[in-house]
Amino acid sequence: MPLSVPLVLRPGYPDRYFTVHVHRVRWSVPNVSPVLTPDHLAQLEDNARRGLRMVSECVAAELTDADIEVTEHPTGGADAVARVLCDSDVCAAVAEQYRRDADEDVEAEAARAWAATQLQGQTMELLRPLGKVEQDHAPAVAATRQVLAALGLPEICLVVLIGASGSGKSTLAGLFPAGSVLNADRLREALTGDPLDQSVSTTAWDLLHRRLDRMLSEHRSAVVDGVNSEAWARKKLIAAGHLHGMPVVALVVDATLEQALARNAARPAALRVRDQVVTAQHAELTRDLSGLLAEGFTAVHHSRDLPVMDVLLRACAEQEKTNPALHVERAFGRDLARLFTRRDGESNNGLGNGTFAIGGQELTIRWVEQDDPDQIVHQMKIACPDCGGPAWVGVYCATDLMDARAGSYPVQSTCLCP
Ligand code: GDP
Ligand code: MG
Repeated sequence: MPLSVPLVLRPGYPDRYFTVHVHRVRWSVPNVSPVLTPDHLAQLEDNARRGLRMVSECVAAELTDADIEVTEHPTGGADAVARVLCDSDVCAAVAEQYRRDADEDVEAEAARAWAATQLQGQTMELLRPLGKVEQDHAPAVAATRQVLAALGLPEICLVVLIGASGSGKSTLAGLFPAGSVLNADRLREALTGDPLDQSVSTTAWDLLHRRLDRMLSEHRSAVVDGVNSEAWARKKLIAAGHLHGMPVVALVVDATLEQALARNAARPAALRVRDQVVTAQHAELTRDLSGLLAEGFTAVHHSRDLPVMDVLLRACAEQEKTNPALHVERAFGRDLARLFTRRDGESNNGLGNGTFAIGGQELTIRWVEQDDPDQIVHQMKIACPDCGGPAWVGVYCATDLMDARAGSYPVQSTCLCP
Protein backbone atom coordinates (compact mmCIF):
# COMPACT_ATOMS: atom_id res chain seq x y z
CA MET A 1 0.00 0.00 0.00
CA PRO A 2 1.80 3.18 -1.08
CA LEU A 3 1.00 6.03 1.23
CA SER A 4 2.41 9.43 2.00
CA VAL A 5 1.56 10.67 5.45
CA PRO A 6 1.75 14.42 5.98
CA LEU A 7 2.98 15.48 9.39
CA VAL A 8 3.35 18.78 11.10
CA LEU A 9 6.15 19.43 13.53
CA ARG A 10 5.23 21.28 16.72
CA PRO A 11 6.05 23.22 18.70
CA GLY A 12 7.76 25.81 16.62
CA TYR A 13 6.27 28.61 14.69
CA PRO A 14 5.91 28.61 11.78
CA ASP A 15 4.99 24.97 11.57
CA ARG A 16 7.41 22.70 9.76
CA TYR A 17 5.99 20.03 7.57
CA PHE A 18 7.26 16.53 6.93
CA THR A 19 5.99 13.59 5.02
CA VAL A 20 6.53 9.93 5.74
CA HIS A 21 6.55 7.94 2.52
CA VAL A 22 5.41 4.44 3.33
CA HIS A 23 5.28 1.18 1.44
CA ARG A 24 4.03 -1.99 3.08
CA VAL A 25 4.39 -5.51 1.72
CA ARG A 26 2.43 -8.37 3.24
CA TRP A 27 3.08 -12.07 2.81
CA SER A 28 0.62 -14.58 4.05
CA VAL A 29 1.91 -18.08 4.69
CA PRO A 30 0.17 -20.03 1.92
CA ASN A 31 1.69 -17.70 -0.67
CA VAL A 32 5.24 -18.53 0.37
CA SER A 33 5.90 -21.51 2.59
CA PRO A 34 4.59 -22.80 5.93
CA VAL A 35 7.60 -21.37 7.70
CA LEU A 36 9.32 -18.15 6.73
CA THR A 37 13.09 -18.54 6.58
CA PRO A 38 15.61 -15.70 7.11
CA ASP A 39 15.97 -15.63 3.31
CA HIS A 40 12.25 -15.10 2.94
CA LEU A 41 12.34 -12.27 5.40
CA ALA A 42 15.31 -10.67 3.66
CA GLN A 43 13.46 -10.89 0.38
CA LEU A 44 10.33 -9.39 1.94
CA GLU A 45 12.44 -6.54 3.29
CA ASP A 46 13.96 -5.97 -0.11
CA ASN A 47 10.53 -5.95 -1.74
CA ALA A 48 9.35 -3.23 0.63
CA ARG A 49 12.49 -1.16 -0.02
CA ARG A 50 12.29 -1.47 -3.79
CA GLY A 51 8.52 -0.97 -3.74
CA LEU A 52 8.88 2.36 -1.98
CA ARG A 53 11.44 3.53 -4.56
CA MET A 54 9.18 2.54 -7.41
CA VAL A 55 5.84 3.88 -6.22
CA SER A 56 7.06 7.14 -4.80
CA GLU A 57 7.46 10.23 -6.90
CA CYS A 58 9.68 11.81 -4.30
CA VAL A 59 13.40 12.17 -4.82
CA ALA A 60 14.08 11.65 -1.12
CA ALA A 61 12.14 8.40 -1.16
CA GLU A 62 14.14 7.25 -4.17
CA LEU A 63 17.56 8.18 -2.88
CA THR A 64 17.28 7.65 0.86
CA ASP A 65 17.85 4.26 2.36
CA ALA A 66 14.45 3.40 3.78
CA ASP A 67 13.95 2.30 7.35
CA ILE A 68 12.44 -1.19 7.25
CA GLU A 69 10.35 -2.78 9.94
CA VAL A 70 9.56 -6.48 9.57
CA THR A 71 6.84 -8.05 11.66
CA GLU A 72 6.25 -11.79 11.73
CA HIS A 73 2.68 -12.74 12.61
CA PRO A 74 2.03 -15.46 15.18
CA THR A 75 -0.44 -17.05 12.78
CA GLY A 76 2.22 -17.17 10.06
CA GLY A 77 3.12 -14.71 7.36
CA ALA A 78 4.88 -11.39 7.80
CA ASP A 79 4.73 -7.68 6.98
CA ALA A 80 7.53 -5.43 5.92
CA VAL A 81 7.06 -1.69 5.94
CA ALA A 82 9.53 0.72 4.38
CA ARG A 83 9.51 4.34 5.54
CA VAL A 84 11.40 7.45 4.52
CA LEU A 85 11.08 10.81 6.28
CA CYS A 86 11.01 13.64 3.81
CA ASP A 87 11.04 17.38 4.50
CA SER A 88 9.94 18.56 1.09
CA ASP A 89 7.14 21.11 1.28
CA VAL A 90 5.83 19.87 -2.02
CA CYS A 91 5.42 16.32 -0.76
CA ALA A 92 3.61 17.50 2.36
CA ALA A 93 1.30 19.68 0.30
CA VAL A 94 0.57 16.85 -2.12
CA ALA A 95 0.01 14.36 0.68
CA GLU A 96 -2.38 16.73 2.38
CA GLN A 97 -4.71 16.59 -0.57
CA TYR A 98 -5.46 12.94 0.02
CA ARG A 99 -7.87 11.79 2.62
CA ARG A 100 -7.37 8.46 4.21
CA ASP A 101 -9.80 5.70 5.03
CA ALA A 102 -9.81 4.15 8.51
CA ASP A 103 -7.39 1.40 7.54
CA GLU A 104 -4.90 3.91 6.24
CA ASP A 105 -5.28 5.96 9.39
CA VAL A 106 -3.84 3.08 11.37
CA GLU A 107 -0.92 3.09 8.94
CA ALA A 108 -0.67 6.85 9.21
CA GLU A 109 -0.63 6.73 13.00
CA ALA A 110 2.16 4.16 12.87
CA ALA A 111 4.06 6.44 10.49
CA ARG A 112 3.67 9.32 12.93
CA ALA A 113 4.98 7.23 15.80
CA TRP A 114 7.95 6.18 13.69
CA ALA A 115 8.66 9.78 12.63
CA ALA A 116 8.64 10.81 16.29
CA THR A 117 11.52 8.40 16.91
CA GLN A 118 13.43 9.92 13.99
CA LEU A 119 12.92 13.48 15.19
CA GLN A 120 13.59 12.90 18.81
CA GLY A 121 12.40 15.48 21.25
CA GLN A 122 10.10 17.03 18.70
CA THR A 123 6.37 16.70 18.74
CA MET A 124 4.95 15.31 15.55
CA GLU A 125 1.32 15.66 14.71
CA LEU A 126 -0.48 13.87 12.03
CA LEU A 127 -2.30 16.31 9.83
CA ARG A 128 -5.80 15.42 10.70
CA PRO A 129 -8.34 13.66 8.55
CA LEU A 130 -11.15 15.78 7.17
CA GLY A 131 -13.81 14.79 9.73
CA LYS A 132 -11.60 15.82 12.63
CA VAL A 133 -10.67 19.07 10.95
CA GLU A 134 -14.32 19.91 10.41
CA GLN A 135 -15.05 19.20 14.03
CA ASP A 136 -12.19 21.37 15.30
CA HIS A 137 -12.93 24.28 13.06
CA ALA A 138 -16.71 24.14 13.34
CA PRO A 139 -17.19 27.30 15.47
CA ALA A 140 -14.89 29.44 13.30
CA VAL A 141 -16.39 28.01 10.12
CA ALA A 142 -19.90 28.85 11.31
CA ALA A 143 -18.89 32.37 12.35
CA THR A 144 -17.14 32.97 9.02
CA ARG A 145 -20.15 31.73 7.13
CA GLN A 146 -22.33 34.17 9.07
CA VAL A 147 -20.12 37.15 8.28
CA LEU A 148 -19.95 36.21 4.60
CA ALA A 149 -23.73 35.81 4.44
CA ALA A 150 -24.28 39.12 6.21
CA LEU A 151 -22.00 40.80 3.67
CA GLY A 152 -23.95 39.19 0.83
CA LEU A 153 -20.96 37.11 -0.28
CA PRO A 154 -20.98 33.37 -1.08
CA GLU A 155 -21.18 31.47 2.22
CA ILE A 156 -18.05 29.50 1.43
CA CYS A 157 -15.45 31.28 -0.66
CA LEU A 158 -11.98 32.72 -0.92
CA VAL A 159 -12.00 36.47 -0.25
CA VAL A 160 -9.03 38.37 -1.63
CA LEU A 161 -8.70 41.80 -0.01
CA ILE A 162 -7.23 44.41 -2.29
CA GLY A 163 -6.00 47.80 -1.17
CA ALA A 164 -2.89 49.90 -0.67
CA SER A 165 -1.12 49.85 2.69
CA GLY A 166 -3.14 51.89 5.17
CA SER A 167 -6.37 51.50 3.21
CA GLY A 168 -7.93 49.50 6.05
CA LYS A 169 -7.65 45.87 4.89
CA SER A 170 -6.64 44.38 8.24
CA THR A 171 -9.35 46.42 9.96
CA LEU A 172 -11.90 44.94 7.58
CA ALA A 173 -10.40 41.46 7.92
CA GLY A 174 -11.03 41.84 11.66
CA LEU A 175 -14.73 41.28 10.94
CA PHE A 176 -13.84 37.63 10.36
CA PRO A 177 -12.68 35.08 12.92
CA ALA A 178 -8.88 35.20 13.10
CA GLY A 179 -8.63 31.54 12.02
CA SER A 180 -10.08 32.40 8.63
CA VAL A 181 -7.65 35.21 7.87
CA LEU A 182 -4.26 34.72 6.20
CA ASN A 183 -1.90 37.65 6.35
CA ALA A 184 1.66 37.70 5.02
CA ASP A 185 2.61 40.48 7.46
CA ARG A 186 1.78 38.19 10.38
CA LEU A 187 3.86 35.38 8.86
CA ARG A 188 6.84 37.69 8.21
CA GLU A 189 6.55 38.86 11.80
CA ALA A 190 6.56 35.25 12.99
CA LEU A 191 9.66 34.55 10.92
CA THR A 192 11.81 37.56 11.78
CA GLY A 193 9.89 39.69 14.26
CA ASP A 194 9.36 42.36 11.63
CA PRO A 195 6.05 42.30 9.73
CA LEU A 196 7.56 44.37 6.92
CA ASP A 197 10.80 42.41 6.49
CA GLN A 198 10.79 41.89 2.74
CA SER A 199 13.76 39.49 2.88
CA VAL A 200 11.37 36.73 4.00
CA SER A 201 8.48 37.70 1.74
CA THR A 202 8.87 34.69 -0.51
CA THR A 203 8.89 32.29 2.43
CA ALA A 204 5.94 34.07 4.03
CA TRP A 205 3.89 33.89 0.83
CA ASP A 206 4.86 30.23 0.32
CA LEU A 207 3.60 29.51 3.81
CA LEU A 208 0.48 31.53 3.20
CA HIS A 209 -0.26 29.57 0.04
CA ARG A 210 0.36 26.31 1.84
CA ARG A 211 -2.14 27.22 4.52
CA LEU A 212 -4.57 28.53 1.96
CA ASP A 213 -4.38 25.26 0.02
CA ARG A 214 -5.03 23.34 3.18
CA MET A 215 -8.04 25.48 4.12
CA LEU A 216 -9.54 25.32 0.67
CA SER A 217 -8.98 21.57 0.39
CA GLU A 218 -10.93 21.27 3.64
CA HIS A 219 -13.66 23.35 2.04
CA ARG A 220 -13.13 26.19 4.50
CA SER A 221 -13.42 29.83 3.56
CA ALA A 222 -10.31 31.98 3.70
CA VAL A 223 -9.72 35.72 3.70
CA VAL A 224 -6.37 36.76 2.28
CA ASP A 225 -5.32 40.06 3.85
CA GLY A 226 -2.61 41.55 1.67
CA VAL A 227 -2.10 44.51 -0.65
CA ASN A 228 -2.54 42.31 -3.75
CA SER A 229 -1.73 45.20 -6.00
CA GLU A 230 0.27 43.00 -8.36
CA ALA A 231 -1.60 41.01 -11.01
CA TRP A 232 0.69 37.97 -10.65
CA ALA A 233 -0.02 37.74 -6.94
CA ARG A 234 -3.76 37.88 -7.56
CA LYS A 235 -3.39 35.29 -10.32
CA LYS A 236 -1.84 32.78 -7.91
CA LEU A 237 -4.66 33.28 -5.42
CA ILE A 238 -7.32 32.95 -8.11
CA ALA A 239 -5.66 29.74 -9.33
CA ALA A 240 -5.67 28.32 -5.78
CA GLY A 241 -9.38 29.03 -5.45
CA HIS A 242 -10.22 27.53 -8.82
CA LEU A 243 -8.13 24.44 -8.09
CA HIS A 244 -10.44 23.69 -5.17
CA GLY A 245 -13.62 24.78 -6.94
CA MET A 246 -14.08 27.77 -4.63
CA PRO A 247 -15.63 31.10 -5.66
CA VAL A 248 -12.90 33.74 -5.48
CA VAL A 249 -14.21 37.15 -4.48
CA ALA A 250 -12.16 40.32 -4.85
CA LEU A 251 -12.95 42.76 -2.06
CA VAL A 252 -11.52 46.14 -2.88
CA VAL A 253 -11.02 48.19 0.28
CA ASP A 254 -11.98 51.72 -0.63
CA ALA A 255 -9.74 54.52 0.53
CA THR A 256 -8.36 57.54 -1.28
CA LEU A 257 -4.61 57.85 -1.64
CA GLU A 258 -4.70 60.71 0.87
CA GLN A 259 -6.52 58.54 3.43
CA ALA A 260 -4.11 55.63 2.96
CA LEU A 261 -1.11 57.96 3.29
CA ALA A 262 -2.50 59.65 6.38
CA ARG A 263 -3.34 56.35 8.12
CA ASN A 264 0.02 54.92 7.18
CA ALA A 265 1.75 58.00 8.57
CA ALA A 266 -0.18 57.65 11.83
CA ARG A 267 1.07 54.10 12.40
CA PRO A 268 4.02 53.31 14.67
CA ALA A 269 7.31 53.69 12.76
CA ALA A 270 7.97 49.94 12.65
CA LEU A 271 4.69 49.36 10.80
CA ARG A 272 4.96 52.33 8.45
CA VAL A 273 5.51 51.78 4.76
CA ARG A 274 7.34 54.39 2.69
CA ASP A 275 4.99 56.98 1.12
CA GLN A 276 6.31 56.14 -2.35
CA VAL A 277 5.31 52.52 -1.83
CA VAL A 278 1.77 53.44 -0.80
CA THR A 279 1.50 55.79 -3.77
CA ALA A 280 2.78 53.14 -6.19
CA GLN A 281 0.40 50.51 -4.81
CA HIS A 282 -2.53 52.89 -5.08
CA ALA A 283 -1.65 53.82 -8.66
CA GLU A 284 -1.23 50.18 -9.67
CA LEU A 285 -4.57 49.23 -8.14
CA THR A 286 -6.43 52.16 -9.64
CA ARG A 287 -5.11 51.13 -13.02
CA ASP A 288 -6.06 47.44 -12.61
CA LEU A 289 -9.49 47.88 -11.01
CA SER A 290 -11.58 47.69 -14.15
CA GLY A 291 -9.82 44.50 -15.27
CA LEU A 292 -10.27 42.49 -12.05
CA LEU A 293 -13.28 40.49 -13.23
CA ALA A 294 -11.45 39.51 -16.41
CA GLU A 295 -8.56 38.20 -14.27
CA GLY A 296 -10.82 35.35 -13.13
CA PHE A 297 -12.45 36.60 -9.95
CA THR A 298 -15.95 35.22 -9.50
CA ALA A 299 -17.10 38.65 -8.35
CA VAL A 300 -15.58 42.01 -7.54
CA HIS A 301 -16.97 44.00 -4.61
CA HIS A 302 -16.10 47.34 -3.09
CA SER A 303 -16.13 47.74 0.68
CA ARG A 304 -18.15 50.97 0.44
CA ASP A 305 -21.03 49.03 -1.18
CA LEU A 306 -21.11 46.18 1.36
CA PRO A 307 -22.86 46.43 4.75
CA VAL A 308 -19.56 46.34 6.64
CA MET A 309 -20.68 48.88 9.25
CA ASP A 310 -23.79 46.81 10.03
CA VAL A 311 -21.70 43.67 10.43
CA LEU A 312 -19.30 45.51 12.75
CA LEU A 313 -22.11 46.92 14.89
CA ARG A 314 -23.88 43.57 15.12
CA ALA A 315 -20.67 41.89 16.29
CA CYS A 316 -20.03 44.61 18.89
CA ALA A 317 -23.63 44.50 20.13
CA GLU A 318 -23.38 40.71 20.42
CA GLN A 319 -20.17 41.08 22.40
CA GLU A 320 -21.82 43.60 24.67
CA LYS A 321 -24.55 41.06 25.42
CA THR A 322 -22.28 38.09 25.97
CA ASN A 323 -19.27 39.63 27.69
CA PRO A 324 -19.84 39.23 31.43
CA ALA A 325 -16.85 41.42 32.22
CA LEU A 326 -17.83 44.27 29.93
CA HIS A 327 -18.32 46.59 32.91
CA VAL A 328 -14.72 45.92 33.93
CA GLU A 329 -13.44 46.77 30.47
CA ARG A 330 -15.60 49.92 30.37
CA ALA A 331 -14.33 51.15 33.73
CA PHE A 332 -10.70 50.10 33.72
CA GLY A 333 -9.78 49.55 30.06
CA ARG A 334 -8.97 46.55 27.92
CA ASP A 335 -5.50 45.79 29.29
CA LEU A 336 -6.79 45.35 32.82
CA ALA A 337 -9.89 43.49 31.61
CA ARG A 338 -7.60 40.92 30.01
CA LEU A 339 -6.10 40.21 33.42
CA PHE A 340 -9.46 39.96 35.12
CA THR A 341 -11.05 36.77 36.50
CA ARG A 342 -14.50 36.62 38.00
CA ARG A 343 -14.73 34.84 41.33
CA ASP A 344 -18.42 34.13 41.23
CA GLY A 345 -18.16 31.19 43.58
CA GLU A 346 -16.82 33.48 46.26
CA SER A 347 -19.36 36.25 45.83
CA ASN A 348 -20.43 37.72 49.16
CA ASN A 349 -23.73 39.36 50.04
CA GLY A 350 -24.97 38.93 46.48
CA LEU A 351 -22.10 41.03 45.18
CA GLY A 352 -20.08 40.11 42.14
CA ASN A 353 -16.38 40.02 42.64
CA GLY A 354 -13.18 39.20 40.85
CA THR A 355 -9.48 39.87 40.65
CA PHE A 356 -6.90 41.41 38.39
CA ALA A 357 -3.72 39.35 38.49
CA ILE A 358 -0.19 39.86 37.21
CA GLY A 359 3.08 38.21 38.19
CA GLY A 360 1.66 36.63 41.33
CA GLN A 361 0.12 39.92 42.53
CA GLU A 362 -3.61 40.39 42.79
CA LEU A 363 -6.09 43.15 43.25
CA THR A 364 -9.69 42.37 44.21
CA ILE A 365 -12.78 44.32 43.25
CA ARG A 366 -16.48 43.85 43.94
CA TRP A 367 -19.68 45.37 42.64
CA VAL A 368 -23.45 45.20 42.73
CA GLU A 369 -24.74 43.44 39.62
CA GLN A 370 -26.84 45.63 37.28
CA ASP A 371 -28.39 44.96 33.89
CA ASP A 372 -26.77 48.04 32.41
CA PRO A 373 -22.96 47.67 32.62
CA ASP A 374 -22.58 51.45 32.75
CA GLN A 375 -24.54 51.59 36.01
CA ILE A 376 -22.12 49.29 37.82
CA VAL A 377 -19.95 50.91 40.47
CA HIS A 378 -16.85 49.04 41.62
CA GLN A 379 -15.09 48.89 44.90
CA MET A 380 -11.52 47.83 45.47
CA LYS A 381 -10.41 45.80 48.45
CA ILE A 382 -7.82 47.49 50.63
CA ALA A 383 -6.39 46.98 54.07
CA CYS A 384 -8.22 49.25 56.47
CA PRO A 385 -5.83 52.07 57.45
CA ASP A 386 -7.10 51.87 61.03
CA CYS A 387 -7.28 48.18 61.85
CA GLY A 388 -5.58 46.51 58.86
CA GLY A 389 -8.72 44.42 58.21
CA PRO A 390 -10.48 44.26 54.87
CA ALA A 391 -12.04 47.50 53.67
CA TRP A 392 -13.46 48.67 50.35
CA VAL A 393 -13.09 51.94 48.46
CA GLY A 394 -15.07 53.11 45.45
CA VAL A 395 -13.04 53.05 42.20
CA TYR A 396 -14.17 54.43 38.85
CA CYS A 397 -11.09 54.04 36.65
CA ALA A 398 -7.54 52.69 36.49
CA THR A 399 -6.22 55.88 38.08
CA ASP A 400 -8.45 55.26 41.12
CA LEU A 401 -7.04 51.72 41.39
CA MET A 402 -3.53 53.11 41.31
CA ASP A 403 -4.27 55.80 43.90
CA ALA A 404 -6.05 53.33 46.17
CA ARG A 405 -3.04 51.02 46.09
CA ALA A 406 -0.85 53.96 46.97
CA GLY A 407 -3.05 54.63 49.99
CA SER A 408 -4.86 57.64 48.64
CA TYR A 409 -8.60 57.02 48.62
CA PRO A 410 -10.59 59.16 46.25
CA VAL A 411 -13.90 58.06 47.74
CA GLN A 412 -14.94 57.29 51.31
CA SER A 413 -13.83 53.79 52.21
CA THR A 414 -16.13 51.20 53.76
CA CYS A 415 -14.33 49.50 56.59
CA LEU A 416 -15.59 46.22 57.91
CA CYS A 417 -13.78 46.60 61.20
CA PRO A 418 -15.81 47.38 64.30
P1 GDP B 1 -3.98 47.95 5.97
O1 GDP B 1 -2.56 48.37 5.83
O2 GDP B 1 -4.74 48.11 4.71
O3 GDP B 1 -4.15 46.60 6.57
O4 GDP B 1 -4.65 48.98 6.96
P2 GDP B 1 -5.12 48.79 8.45
O5 GDP B 1 -6.41 48.05 8.48
O6 GDP B 1 -4.01 48.28 9.27
O7 GDP B 1 -5.44 50.30 8.83
C1 GDP B 1 -4.41 51.25 8.94
C2 GDP B 1 -4.81 52.27 9.99
O8 GDP B 1 -5.95 52.99 9.56
C3 GDP B 1 -5.19 51.62 11.30
O9 GDP B 1 -4.68 52.41 12.34
C4 GDP B 1 -6.69 51.64 11.31
O10 GDP B 1 -7.19 51.74 12.62
C5 GDP B 1 -7.02 52.84 10.48
N1 GDP B 1 -8.23 52.65 9.68
C6 GDP B 1 -8.54 51.55 8.96
N2 GDP B 1 -9.71 51.71 8.32
C7 GDP B 1 -10.13 52.97 8.64
C8 GDP B 1 -11.28 53.74 8.29
O11 GDP B 1 -12.16 53.33 7.55
N3 GDP B 1 -11.34 55.00 8.81
C9 GDP B 1 -10.39 55.49 9.64
N4 GDP B 1 -10.53 56.74 10.08
N5 GDP B 1 -9.31 54.79 9.97
C10 GDP B 1 -9.17 53.55 9.51
MG1 MG C 1 -2.70 45.20 7.14
